[in-house]
Amino acid sequence: MAPEARDDLYLLYRGPLASCNYDCPYCPFAKRVDPPELLRADRADLERFAGWVEATTDRRLSVLFTPWGEGLTRSWYRDTIVRLSHLPHVARVAIQTNLAARTGWLSEANPQVAALWATYHPGQVTRDRFLGRCRELLGLGIRFSIGVVGLPEHHAEAVALRAALPPEVYLWINAAEGHVYTAEEEQRWTALDPLFGDSVRPHASLGLPCHAGETAVSVLGDGTVRRCHFIKTPIGNLYDGTWRAALQPRPCTNNLCDCHIGYIHLKPLHLRDVYADGLLERIPVAWPLPAQPRPAHR
Ligand code: SF4
Ligand code: SF4
Repeated sequence: MAPEARDDLYLLYRGPLASCNYDCPYCPFAKRVDPPELLRADRADLERFAGWVEATTDRRLSVLFTPWGEGLTRSWYRDTIVRLSHLPHVARVAIQTNLAARTGWLSEANPQVAALWATYHPGQVTRDRFLGRCRELLGLGIRFSIGVVGLPEHHAEAVALRAALPPEVYLWINAAEGHVYTAEEEQRWTALDPLFGDSVRPHASLGLPCHAGETAVSVLGDGTVRRCHFIKTPIGNLYDGTWRAALQPRPCTNNLCDCHIGYIHLKPLHLRDVYADGLLERIPVAWPLPAQPRPAHR
C-alpha cells in the first residue's frame, strides 16, 4: 500500500552539475561548462539518488531537482524524472528549468506526478519560442509554473508573457536579489503575481519553527542531508540511514529566509496551505486566486 500524506517527505536535490546553456547576466552559472568527469559524477550521483527514492517506499516522497545550472539538457535528469514519476510512493517529481530543452520526453512521464518549475529569461530566448514550449507542456498535460526575475528591465516582457499565457498557468515573480522595491514597483509586480508579497522582502526566520529538517530536507550528490539549502550544517546522510533519526522539529537558525524554496517551509507562513500539492513546482492550489487580496502573512 502506498504511504499516506501524513508520511510526506519533501526532498530538494542538488548534485554537482553547475553548467548552463544560457548566459543570464544575473547568474554565476551563465555559460559555464562542466568538465566530463564532473558530468559523470553528477550522473552517477543522480542514479544513486533515484535508487534510494525507488527503495524508500515507507514515506510519500516529493522531489524537486534544484541544479545550480540547467539539468534538462542532460539525459539523466530527463530519464530520472520519467522513472520516478511512475513510482506509487512518489507524489511529485519536479525540476527547476529554463525550458530551453525539448519537451517531448515528458510524454513518457506520469503527468499526475511530473512537473516543471520553469523560468523565462528575457534576452536568452524569444517570448514566442518560450511560449511555444509552454504550449507543448499544455498539450502534454504536464503541470508547470512559469516565473520571471523581477528586474525593472523584465517588466514589459513579464506583462506580455502574462497576457499571452492562458489564465490557468500561474506566473510567479521572484524579487531580484539585492533589489529594494518601492511601493509603486511592488504594486506593479503584484499586479502580475498576487503572491509577489511573499517574495519581495526576506522573511525574518531566526527562532521560528520550520518544516525544514522535519518533513523537508536538502540532499547533495554524495547523500549529505541538510535541513535546507541555506543552513549548511549536515544533519545526516541519505545512504547510511542517519537521515531518519535526524528528522525532528527545530527552529530556524538563520536570521532571514529569502528564497521561495526555503520559506515555503517556514511554519508561521502557512504556505503549504497555499500551494498544497503544487508546493514544489510552485502552483497555488486555488489558482487563479480570487480577486480580493490575501491577508498578509506578516
Ligand atoms: S538559465 Fe538559470 S542557471 Fe542558466 S544562466 Fe540563467 S539563471 Fe543561470
Ligand atoms: S526558514 Fe529558511 S533558512 Fe530557516 S530552516 Fe527554514 S528553509 Fe532553512
